[in-house]
Amino acid sequence: MENVTIIGTGPAGLTAAIYAARADLEPLVLSGNLPGGQLTQTTDVENYPGFPAGIQGFDLMEALRGQAERFGTRIKSDAVTGVDLLDGGPQSLTLASGTVLETKALVVATGARPRWLDLPSEEALKNKGVSGCATCDGAFFRDVPIVVVGGGDSALEEALFLTRFGSKVMVVHRRGELRGSKIMQARALAHEKIEFLWHSVVHEILDVSQDTVTGIVLRDVRDDSLRTVDCSAVFVAIGHIPNTDVFEGKLAMADGYILPRECGRSFTSVEGVFVAGDCADHIYRQAITAAGMGCQAAIDAERWLAEVE
Ligand code: NAP
Repeated sequence: MENVTIIGTGPAGLTAAIYAARADLEPLVLSGNLPGGQLTQTTDVENYPGFPAGIQGFDLMEALRGQAERFGTRIKSDAVTGVDLLDGGPQSLTLASGTVLETKALVVATGARPRWLDLPSEEALKNKGVSGCATCDGAFFRDVPIVVVGGGDSALEEALFLTRFGSKVMVVHRRGELRGSKIMQARALAHEKIEFLWHSVVHEILDVSQDTVTGIVLRDVRDDSLRTVDCSAVFVAIGHIPNTDVFEGKLAMADGYILPRECGRSFTSVEGVFVAGDCADHIYRQAITAAGMGCQAAIDAERWLAEVE
């Protein structure tokens, strides 16, 4: 029987591991399908405190992993395919390898994955002008035209943020009205640097042959006509998908995000199961907020274990 098992090796999971390991709980961490989490997919991280010159996402995750292992964390390369949750525990996890393990406390830090357009040109130009995070990459595109794809709050927020850098920001939306909240719509629609390209979807991102973004080919969904728009960056903001399928019907959730029992705490609807990071956060979604939530989950788990034992 494990004391604490942590699912996920992003900033939330590894920070939970550092805290749990330093509390002598000898945590087991399951690395999941994307070891290191979303940060391993980005290049420069300039907003994680403590790195004045920035750090590569991959290097940051290696450092967190090393820090967790230094205090006795065990990291197992495996993914959870099934769970059997019981109020008060023990929790039972079935892994892709076929192993079934039991744990007293469970920290769910499975993260989220950005929804992408699924175009071959998008895939080829990721980190070469195509990004899923304006906070992370916006500052690299100063005084150039920028495209944001999406019509929800994320797209509007990204577009407003990117007005600081771009010469103009063009929001590509597949319909003629926005999904985002009224206040965000009002701000974006009134902004002099933001232009809306309505009823349009991205048909292709240019230019794979130059290995950098030079524009997009837009398709008007009303008549299928194509046109080219010049830009130097494309931010895709069409929503995120929390990695919580395995907890469907087992933990309280809203729109696929795991709901904490109390706002700002890590306790879930099942006693002994704690949550941290992007799988429970559709608002901030930053490495540093995920790390903070990981710390909270480990402290909550440690105190809960001390109480029940
Ligand atoms: P969202 O509300 O689901 O919006 C996704 C947008 O992307 C929609 O406009 C959708 O178009 C479009 N879209 C989806 N799939 C697409 C595709 N394949 N091709 C082109 N367009 C596509 O997602 P979100 O903006 O990430 O927001 C998620 C939640 O977080 C919302 O509840 C939001 O209010 C909240 N949030 C809040 C804030 C804030 O308050 N500051 C900031 C960010 C997010 P359609 O409209 O046609 O469906």
